[in-house]
Amino acid sequence: MNANLLQTPIDYLKGIGPNRAEILRKEIGVHTYGDLLNFFPNRYLDKTRFYKIAELERNSAEVQIVGKIVHLRTVEQKKSKRLVADFVDETGKMELVWFRGQKWIRENLKLNTPYVIFGKTNWYNGLFSMPHPDMELVEDYKKQLRTAMQPVYPSTEKLGKAGITNRVISRCVQQLFLESGGKFLDPLPPHLREELHLLPKAEALFNAHFPKSQELLAKAQFRLKFEELFYIQVQLLMKNLIRKQKIKGFPFEAVGSYFSDFYRDHLPFDLTNAQKKVIKEIRQDLGSGAQMNRLLQGDVGSGKTIVALMSVLLALDNDFQTCIMAPTEILAIQHYNGISELVADLGITVRLLTGSTKTSERREIHAALESGELHLLIGTHALLEEKVQFKNLGLAIIDEQHRFGVAQRARLWKKNHLPPHVLVMTATPIPRTLAMSLYGDLDVSVIDELPPGRKEIKTVHRYDSNRLKVFKFIRDEVRKGRQVYVVYPLIQESESMDYKDLMDGYESIAREFPMPEFQISIVHGQMKPADKDYEMDRFVKGETQIMVATTVIEVGVNVPNASVMIIESAERFGLSQLHQLRGRVGRGADQSYCILMTGHKLSNDSKTRLETMVRTADGFEIAEVDLKLRGPGDLMGTQQSGILNLKIADIVKDNDILKTARHHALQLLKEDPNLELEKNRVVKFTYSQLVKEKTIWNYIS
Ligand code: ADP
Ligand code: MG
Repeated sequence: MNANLLQTPIDYLKGIGPNRAEILRKEIGVHTYGDLLNFFPNRYLDKTRFYKIAELERNSAEVQIVGKIVHLRTVEQKKSKRLVADFVDETGKMELVWFRGQKWIRENLKLNTPYVIFGKTNWYNGLFSMPHPDMELVEDYKKQLRTAMQPVYPSTEKLGKAGITNRVISRCVQQLFLESGGKFLDPLPPHLREELHLLPKAEALFNAHFPKSQELLAKAQFRLKFEELFYIQVQLLMKNLIRKQKIKGFPFEAVGSYFSDFYRDHLPFDLTNAQKKVIKEIRQDLGSGAQMNRLLQGDVGSGKTIVALMSVLLALDNDFQTCIMAPTEILAIQHYNGISELVADLGITVRLLTGSTKTSERREIHAALESGELHLLIGTHALLEEKVQFKNLGLAIIDEQHRFGVAQRARLWKKNHLPPHVLVMTATPIPRTLAMSLYGDLDVSVIDELPPGRKEIKTVHRYDSNRLKVFKFIRDEVRKGRQVYVVYPLIQESESMDYKDLMDGYESIAREFPMPEFQISIVHGQMKPADKDYEMDRFVKGETQIMVATTVIEVGVNVPNASVMIIESAERFGLSQLHQLRGRVGRGADQSYCILMTGHKLSNDSKTRLETMVRTADGFEIAEVDLKLRGPGDLMGTQQSGILNLKIADIVKDNDILKTARHHALQLLKEDPNLELEKNRVVKFTYSQLVKEKTIWNYIS
């Protein structure tokens, strides 16, 4: 089929008038012939067998029966109406039932005419019935293209109401194959097809819609998924290549004394291999002459800060200024204190800028920035204010990325004639291949190893009925000098209820742990920021031993002496949130604990989440489970990235195919970055079509 035919509006297809076309566009996004061709069944029915009514069994799966309707009637019951047909074959009688679309069915069904029906049966009052059966006249059935496996296309209520049944769609697809003669351009080059033993495009398409066997179906699906993921990867990789060619960055060629002195004399510990590897990747980026745009993923406590600092030192060695932006004031202060200490002997000027920085101090900072005297500015969103102008910002580091929007990041860029290098750090682990697809034009580094000597956090699940034992445990730990977090869920929709939970919890804890022996801090979303900071600060300083809080403490707070994390109503938290919260403890020398409190009633998903938390501390493993439970839709950035508009592949389930596709896309572009080779001509053509259609709108553009 030539490309033009694929562009033909769906209205022109035989069997589809303007009304149906409108519904197809609205309901399932099918505008053209090509769209319909790429509208794939979501399952297949094995219709190799016909049943007799007398053979039916309760709890049988979907069945196919030949028979006739002998009687039709409408049954009214309370407010609802249903259409019921008596359906018979030579062995017995059953009922067919419709709750929707009754008028259309009544007008179109033929009595006493043989039909093939298909569907799931119910057993009720001594009779089998089949709600909303798939039906086809035996006469038509015989004429059709028959395959063992029958496609079932995704449907919607409106499609059904408009009479666009599965069979109608299936017929339209057949029509399409007829009109095209079953010939389709193959967008994969022959060399790839051979290497991977892929079906030709036309054969794959045909078998995806009308599989001749399970085996061919599997091959067809693999081939089509591969193609889809391959071209996503080609687009993302090309985008990255183009960015690197176009967006020049400051080349940090020198490794000077800041970096080397620090490495030799001031590094407080040996770097882990993962940290070394990532620093190397960053050094390569910074020296390349292109602008760095790198995402650094590392689990909580994996040591991202030191990597950030070493990158800062590289920038300073090349006479550039740097900044580190954190999502909260507390985090900014922690970075400021930690880093100031680490670089105390290096002669570097470091300042802190947050919303609460005094005006006089602000002015000083602004002046020092513009003169170039200030080397490293650490702060919050305050860094993005108009008045903050660097003399020569060479590197911007953003911690805990998910708290910042894209627009804000872009604003950082404008502070210079060349954009600064950008390093984004996140503790939200995303499976690597998925990350690469989501953040296509970001390079991804991963710290996949924790510093040595970390004690494993003991994680347990306890029911509310064991609360007294948990209280006793807290008391023992506090008496040993430890600090404890007690966290309550925060769900936006019912803030007042959460507030009540928190307050009830606080009161019972205050009763259990009376002053003056015990001091308690409380932090929640309805407090003024200054009060929050005050309470946090008391806990950080060790003045209070118990911190009762909603999830505001999720992000990055570092209190090494806190060794117990109690999570209340743990079933209400998502996995990644639980994992983040647990990461608040286990930062000091002491054995740490995480106790997940729940009621007795738990959904299966909740159970899986809790079991996963108890079983593993590996952030990536947890992320995989999370992804399986929730699907990629909830992942940050996925909505915008276009990665969800996949026609046949599933970013989670087809992760292996994704890896293969990425591997081959990389290989191909390495050999032929401009797609000039004759053997890749079809890749060049397909890519240029895709770019025209703008199929990928990237997360960060
Ligand atoms: P995160 O990745 O969560 O930001 P941090 O950078 O805050 O982690 O590091 C967590 C803790 O681990 C810090 O106290 C830090 O000093 C320590 N740390 C980092 N790297 C190492 C290492 N290679 N060896 C020992 N301790 C380390
Ligand atoms: Mg951190």
